[in-house]
Amino acid sequence: MSDIYDIAVVGGGIMGSGAALRLAEGGMRVVLLEQGDIGQGASGVNAGTLSLQIKRVKLMPYALRGHQEWKRMGAEVDYRETGGYTLAFTDREADLLHERMTMKQEAGAPISFISPNEVAVREPGLCRKVVAASRCPSDGFANSSLTGRYYRHRLKAANIDVREHCSVAEIHRDEPGFTLQTSTGPVHARRLLLACGGWLKQAAGMIGLDLPVRARVNTVSVTERGPRLVSSVIGHATGLLTLKQKGNGTVLIGGGWQGLGQPGEGGNRGRVDAESVLPNLRLARYAVPGLKELRIVRSWTGFEANVPDFYPLAGAAPGVEGAFLLGCVRGGYTIGPFISKLMGDFILGRETELPLFDPARDFTKEIQL
Ligand SMILES: Cc1cc2nc3c(=O)[nH]c(=O)nc-3n(C[C@H](O)[C@H](O)[C@H](O)COP(=O)(O)OP(=O)(O)OC[C@H]3O[C@@H](n4cnc5c(N)ncnc54)[C@H](O)[C@@H]3O)c2cc1C
Repeated sequence: MSDIYDIAVVGGGIMGSGAALRLAEGGMRVVLLEQGDIGQGASGVNAGTLSLQIKRVKLMPYALRGHQEWKRMGAEVDYRETGGYTLAFTDREADLLHERMTMKQEAGAPISFISPNEVAVREPGLCRKVVAASRCPSDGFANSSLTGRYYRHRLKAANIDVREHCSVAEIHRDEPGFTLQTSTGPVHARRLLLACGGWLKQAAGMIGLDLPVRARVNTVSVTERGPRLVSSVIGHATGLLTLKQKGNGTVLIGGGWQGLGQPGEGGNRGRVDAESVLPNLRLARYAVPGLKELRIVRSWTGFEANVPDFYPLAGAAPGVEGAFLLGCVRGGYTIGPFISKLMGDFILGRETELPLFDPARDFTKEIQL
């Protein structure tokens, strides 16, 4: 067998793994290179929330299809369709909630408004200061710590050459495509897909691109096990809270609060900033008063990349024939299993079910889909 792969995928997160699977299904010989373990990046440390209520309006069609993919993945990733509530505690928040959720309804999300009394009946563990709320029955969550195991199994079953602990340091253009210098030796491939998550800027730099990618450092906290407090995904009108209680009684708290550090500065996850995690926990305790009885056992962070317009990068790498980029997807855990398939289809030369997000676009203009 030739030592030249049809495509080298760099990055074994949900994006790279999902695309690699699609490419292999389409008949390509694929090598996937991951500097650590499959799913060790954002895809394995995120809060696992699969919520349509916190998705951007224009990404709703992608999130709806993402949900269908998660349903198919089911028990292997501990997928739960619990439904979710987004809460407003003031009139201003209620206006914000109404405005945002109406747009998401119009974009196809099955979101409805629900009275504070009904919320109190359905979720008695929530605080009694709710002035308005929305509900989405198809919201839920999965266990992100199972992402790596799930994809490793599927990648191997698809005969993809998976190389973990293989860091790509340099990429050179040559005939018939690319040579990647890795920590375990050179790899030759006709095409290249960079799906490097928070490290996408550095990786794109290896093929001469200077992308305006920045890494956010999201924080998640978990409590000790406790009695049942809530049974759905709980969010806040501002988007600064996501909360759910797992089957084992622990409560996972997130909301996009920012930690410290950047990719390449040492460590691969960033660091928790107490100044930022405390308001997150206060908001969680306000929403679910019973949390006061539970100790926080751990807070952690992970890198999530984005570009100035906060829409994905998914398409051909500008000016580098045979190279492709996939990343910067807001709510990328929810959307990842779907958009990675689209990316695979695009590279295979197939028509994509929904449009991709051209990495060569003008990031100062509102995106047209
Ligand atoms: C803390 C946190 C909480 C989040 N919560 C949610 C949530 O609740 N719901 C939701 O929908 N989304 C959430 N997200 C966003 C979501 O996790 C990400 O959008 C998604 O996982 C990104 O997937 P990815 O494959 O692009 O990146 P990653 O999973 O980070 O994968 C990129 C991979 O590339 C590898 N890599 C990088 N450079 C190289 C190199 N040079 N050589 C080899 N390998 C390399 C990295 O090691 C990494 O494994 C959260 C993100 C974070 C950080």
